[in-house]
Amino acid sequence: MPRMFKNLIPISILLLTPLLTQQAAAMGRRPLPSNSLAELSANHDLSKPNQDDKKVILTGPKLSLIFHHGSRRLIFNNTLILMNGPLTVKSQHSFLTATDTTETVAPLLMPEKLLSQYQPIRSVILDPGHGGADPGAIGKAGVKEKDVVFDIATRCQKKLNAMGIKAVITRKKNRNLSLKERPRMANKLQADLFVSIHANSSRNRAAKGIETHILPAVNFPSTAPSSFSKTACAGNSWDKMNVLLAYSIQKSTLLTTSAADRGVRRSRFSVLRNATCPAILIECGFLSNKVEEKNLNNPVYRDKIATGIANGIKELVNLQ
Ligand SMILES: [Zn+2]
Repeated sequence: MPRMFKNLIPISILLLTPLLTQQAAAMGRRPLPSNSLAELSANHDLSKPNQDDKKVILTGPKLSLIFHHGSRRLIFNNTLILMNGPLTVKSQHSFLTATDTTETVAPLLMPEKLLSQYQPIRSVILDPGHGGADPGAIGKAGVKEKDVVFDIATRCQKKLNAMGIKAVITRKKNRNLSLKERPRMANKLQADLFVSIHANSSRNRAAKGIETHILPAVNFPSTAPSSFSKTACAGNSWDKMNVLLAYSIQKSTLLTTSAADRGVRRSRFSVLRNATCPAILIECGFLSNKVEEKNLNNPVYRDKIATGIANGIKELVNLQ
């Protein structure tokens, strides 16, 4: 876009868009499935889109959103969120998918409004992955995922209980639990949130950092190649809360650990698909990375992760 157009909202395009959409519908064509960032900024009292050929920046009194053309990457208040679809550019305007406008960005911009639609958060299920005969990932020095994540869950449980939030752990110390049983526990206990805790592994030993997974919306792809069907599953009932919970935990955990931000990602993991309440899965670091294996083997570092998860949940409770 030429420099002279920077910061200008071509109002004619804004006014024309619904008209064109109606015309398209009347002619039997599918209406455009996306909303402009100019409209988003007007609706939420943000600055006018400030864009160059790579990115678009919107700012508010205490927040910033950086979108990237052709990409699902949104940097929301310095935390990476992978949206359902990419930002597209048409006629010098940037558009989100309609799904991301309502299911990704609105929950982040208006958390109090969203939380007011749900019952107060009183109880959380903490689900340390693997256990028993299934060790999960194993680092080069022999650190096992099942042990690391159980310790993080136990520490997090104590912190949440001390905050007045009831926390229950899905499995006993060295027992495995089927993937289907894990979300069922949330249902049985009528829990308000489900947090699955894992440690990562990669063939690329340089890979490092924390990532938090939520379901992609219906008909949108995962962020990693996946063969799962894109049709709706039980966990999609909480798409809006999922993104808010994931953002809050990802941001808070990065703050307590200073780990690299690998973002809020989209995956159709079994425990997320079958979730009976808002659910996330956090990968607390890479056991395949020498430094992170050492960190994850250190109780002080595990305590920082547990504090990050608990604080992220408490932040939502405070907004209710
Ligand atoms: Zn795992």
